Amino acid sequence: MATTTFPETEVESNQSATKYVYFFGGGKADGNGKMKDELGGKGAGLAEMTNAGLPVPPGFTIQTEACREYMKKGGVSAEVDQQMESALARLEQLQGQKLGKGENPLLVSVRSGAKFSMPGMMDTILNLGLNDESVGALARRSNNPRFAADSYRRLIQMFGNVVLEIPKAAFDEVFEHKKKQKKARLDTDLDAKALKEVIEEYKKVVKKHAKRDFPQDPHEQLVMARDAVFRSWLNERAKHYRRINNIDDMLGTAVNVQAMVFGNLGDTSGTGVGFTRNPATGVKEFYGEFLMNAQGEDVVAGIRTPVPILELQKVMPDVYHQLREITTRLEKHYRDMQDFEFTIQDGKLYMLQTRNGKRTGRAAVRVAIQMVDEGLITKEEGIFRVEPNQLYDYLVPRLDEKSAKVEVLATGLPASPGAAVGQIVFTADEAVEKAGHGAKKNPVILVRAETTPEDIHGMEVAVGILTSRGGMTSHAAVVTRGMGKCCVAGAGDIQVDEKKREMRVKGQVFKDDDWISLDGTTGRVIKGRLKTLDASPDDPELQTLMSWSEPFRKLGVRANADIPRDAIQARAFGAEGIGLCRTEHMFFGEKKLPHMRAMILAKTEKDRRAALKRLLPLQRADFIGVFRAMDGFPVTIRTLDPPLHEFLPRREDLMVEIAVLEATKPKSPKLGGLRKLLQRVEELHEFNPMLGHRGCRLGITYPEITEMQARAIFEAAVAVAKEGVKVHPEVMIPLTATLKEMANQAAVVHRVAKEVFEEKESTVPYLVGTMIELPRAALVADEIAKEAQFFSFGTNDLTQTTFGFSRDDVNKVLPTYLAEGILKQDPFAVLDREGVGQLVKMATERGRKTRPQLKVGICGEHGGEPSSVEFCHQIGLNYVSCSPFRVLTARLAAAQAAATEKLKVEGGRTK
Ligand code: PEP
Ligand code: MG
Repeated sequence: MATTTFPETEVESNQSATKYVYFFGGGKADGNGKMKDELGGKGAGLAEMTNAGLPVPPGFTIQTEACREYMKKGGVSAEVDQQMESALARLEQLQGQKLGKGENPLLVSVRSGAKFSMPGMMDTILNLGLNDESVGALARRSNNPRFAADSYRRLIQMFGNVVLEIPKAAFDEVFEHKKKQKKARLDTDLDAKALKEVIEEYKKVVKKHAKRDFPQDPHEQLVMARDAVFRSWLNERAKHYRRINNIDDMLGTAVNVQAMVFGNLGDTSGTGVGFTRNPATGVKEFYGEFLMNAQGEDVVAGIRTPVPILELQKVMPDVYHQLREITTRLEKHYRDMQDFEFTIQDGKLYMLQTRNGKRTGRAAVRVAIQMVDEGLITKEEGIFRVEPNQLYDYLVPRLDEKSAKVEVLATGLPASPGAAVGQIVFTADEAVEKAGHGAKKNPVILVRAETTPEDIHGMEVAVGILTSRGGMTSHAAVVTRGMGKCCVAGAGDIQVDEKKREMRVKGQVFKDDDWISLDGTTGRVIKGRLKTLDASPDDPELQTLMSWSEPFRKLGVRANADIPRDAIQARAFGAEGIGLCRTEHMFFGEKKLPHMRAMILAKTEKDRRAALKRLLPLQRADFIGVFRAMDGFPVTIRTLDPPLHEFLPRREDLMVEIAVLEATKPKSPKLGGLRKLLQRVEELHEFNPMLGHRGCRLGITYPEITEMQARAIFEAAVAVAKEGVKVHPEVMIPLTATLKEMANQAAVVHRVAKEVFEEKESTVPYLVGTMIELPRAALVADEIAKEAQFFSFGTNDLTQTTFGFSRDDVNKVLPTYLAEGILKQDPFAVLDREGVGQLVKMATERGRKTRPQLKVGICGEHGGEPSSVEFCHQIGLNYVSCSPFRVLTARLAAAQAAATEKLKVEGGRTK
């Protein structure tokens, strides 16, 4: 983002020539959509919409320069005031109204709008222009004294809080007191008379706190509101947001003053929202809802239920056709699917907002393809219309919306994609009880206000999770994403009463065992029991999009997979090999663990070798399965990495077991074995196992382990090759830091390969390479490349060792670091380009100096994250490797990175 500063002198010298105020309305705007620097995002959008011929409520934008002046001098120049007054006069003339005066008073909104969106950070004032007189005119015009009084009390409250800096609580107190007095349950239960009393009380609050009256002069209101919005640029919330998002404090905000339009002025007024295409499916249909004689707030408060937008055709056919015509034009103008908000005031349509509509992954793919077919965009542009992460939608089940009537109860956050259909339970214990085991499995959905770590056992057995509170990083959201389980979080319209075991929403009550369906991709909570549709990685539309993007892609995409099932899955998603097969996962298997433990407990090399011999056939069988699944694609197999104690029971558990036995059965024959095991566990205990006896250090201290693994690999490879399957094993040594470590382990592997090939009288092509996971390895990569035939960056460990953050404990620090803007992203999720990324780049260059054709990949978690994939493309890696479920994402991200470069389009990701 831009970080320009504005020297004082420039401001001074330009002052007289500066155009501070930009008008929009009557089909023409002074500014345009490109002027975000001056007009801010919102102001530029309003100008563009006006110029595009949309019926936007008219108004004017006071540009950011005035804000910068305000910051420097504590006020604006007379020139700003003058320009604002003449823009207001123009607005009044255009509308045939006067600000806050007469029988048809003009009311305006005053909103902030910076170059970069800062949602909710700065202040807004609505209904400006209302005073003791104009409130009566509004009541008469709307024929709704309650609405007029409510609008006025809201203005006093907003103005009081934002402009006069009166604590919100002072107003809330009055309001709540009135509700109690009138025995009102909801705000809407207060009638016009009660609200008029509130207004009088509010005025007293203003007088008491601000030592002045609420200004009755609309012009004074406007000037004060404008200045308050400028000041809100410097409020703590906004400053904090800018710090986190790297937005320059000197940019300033623009102020948008716009005529208010009301949808509740009678039966020829209304309000609604819509999309030019269906945002869930992408189908080209007019989609949305509206309410006649209503304000947007009525919809939000759930007082009235909106009607499908197609009904507008019957109620107001002319307006409906105009809206269709406008929204069709909007799509052509913006060349993308739009969402829009509109208001009809006295039969006249106003467009309040339009922007590129948010959509599901499937909708994104479908819309892109349709728009290419319609000639609206090119195929190359189509590739960029889909966020790589959205392709995950194709890999999880979804609701079959044709299987039953879809009644949406509430919409929360799409916290973890997929679909879940099940019976409601309200506690984790109940989930476990009802979900049952084995054949008796019942699908249950755990419904909670929010989840905590104590709910984990219930979350594990539930098919989906629904919470009424919490955001995208709430416990429920984070945990379910990790589990690959559907979750809708923060569905605020739902009230969960865990004590009464009830969920209330839309006036309906749901109890234990009632069926609901969740759509974790859109956040919808649906009544009843829908069917689900399986994942569909072979979807024809997805294939079309991939067929456009794939020719651009230069990076290979492999998968991290340890067992044949995952390898087969990865192939189905388009993986071109395995970039990391973690062999230790094979040792944890039920059959293998006893031999593994015997190997660890062995006192002599002879005993150790005997145990390893029993592991050999088991490990060989695993490799055979993986080689077969990869059918000709390379398979990178890593020799044993984790510290040995991970294969033994926990020290504390052993101590307890021994103590219990000693107390209860002191003569138990088991005791001797357990004591021996404990002794070995204690010998192997390390203070910092992540930096301890792991990686190549294991293979160097126990070469027979590497030997056994190499033998299993080559015997499997030769056997599979004999079946006619091409095999390309790549043996990978973990956690090297020096050339000698690499040479030591490479020698073992080469020797065993030679032995096996001689024994079997057959050879296969193979490579021996290393993971680069330590800063030292990156620094001496040119040396290591003398022995390593390929590199694969283990960016999980490389991030850990570069930052010195423990990858298992970083969450103690990370939330604060992110909240404070010290880190922009979790470096374990998104590759840190400035630090870890530089090591990756440098090691690649140094490695290739020694070995120009060195094959280089990445197999840390970053290999499936779009921004990291882009970086890997930019620095010339050969491939990325990621979990099977991220292969599609990585393929599209890699194609977008290459297409960005080739087409010179602006598609780059943030760092
Ligand atoms: C890594 O460190 O990035 C890596 C892939 O290895 P592991 O996660 O198994 O340590
Ligand atoms: Mg590692």
